[in-house]
Amino acid sequence: MSRHILYCKKCSEYTMSEKCSRCGSVALSNKPAKYSPEDKWGKYRLKYKKEAELQ
Ligand SMILES: [Zn+2]
Repeated sequence: MSRHILYCKKCSEYTMSEKCSRCGSVALSNKPAKYSPEDKWGKYRLKYKKEAELQ
């Protein structure tokens, strides 16, 4: 069993896969991105959020 639990902000659901099984968006680590090496996802998330709000 994987311990790598990711989180889809769009669905507010946890998922084990890198992509949300419900909406297909990128699932993110549910850790604070402040000093995470995955900070690059922060930009992606903001961009995605804006696009999602326009739909
Ligand atoms: Zn989702």
